[in-house]
Amino acid sequence: MMTKNKYVVPIPMEMLQRIDRSSSPAHIGKLRNAVDFVTPIGTPVLAAAEGIVTQINDDFYVGGPDASYWFFTNFITIRHSNGEFSRYDHLDYQSSKVKLNQKVLAGDEISKVGMTGYTYIPHLHFQVYVYTGYNIWTDFETIEIKDFKNIL
Ligand SMILES: [Zn+2]
Repeated sequence: MMTKNKYVVPIPMEMLQRIDRSSSPAHIGKLRNAVDFVTPIGTPVLAAAEGIVTQINDDFYVGGPDASYWFFTNFITIRHSNGEFSRYDHLDYQSSKVKLNQKVLAGDEISKVGMTGYTYIPHLHFQVYVYTGYNIWTDFETIEIKDFKNIL
């Protein structure tokens, strides 16, 4: 069995307006355990735990409240030592602060919040997941994160 990882809130606490797990119409099925951090555009996005950057998309610049924007989300993924991955979505255009295969520590700034992809209001979409295959859009299961290390 995997050891359980502990994650910190992936934005600065003073920027956090609210945590929203269920308002998004996208948080169903495989995404049921995703967490939205409501915060203004430009808020720094922080690594939620130590790991290695495995994917970076930051070339998109469109988004809005329409599912047709689904694949236009800028995102970063990080692999953690227990086999879990974390994913950060709706990042701002070309705001990545990290490179592929870079090691990051919990709290390191990796990007900025934007409005790319399918999104109604400025927020960071965050999910912890494991792969069940090779396709990042279909072959995964999210893991429920009940509490964050810095919110007890
Ligand atoms: Zn979300």
